Amino acid sequence: MTTTWQTYASCQGLAAEIFYPTTDEETAEAKMVCSRCPVCEPCLEHALYVREKDGVWGGANEKERRRIIRQRRRAAAKARLLADA
Ligand code: SF4
Repeated sequence: MTTTWQTYASCQGLAAEIFYPTTDEETAEAKMVCSRCPVCEPCLEHALYVREKDGVWGGANEKERRRIIRQRRRAAAKARLLADA
């Protein structure tokens, strides 16, 4: 079943290899497509939610998604500390 946001994905019909580069340096083309994609945000949130390990999703590669997850964990922990204070 196709999720609604995927219906509007700019990467539909493009070669999958573009979005699964072998090195970080080869992500530019995918990120260019993502930067113009109308569903970039839900795509990124989906990849973060399912902990997608490979490829470029929502304009972010695996390393960048891990960084976003770490930042959100830190922010949530800080918010909990402030709420408990
Ligand atoms: S953000 Fe990128 S990977 Fe996600 S649907 Fe759009 S073009 Fe595809």
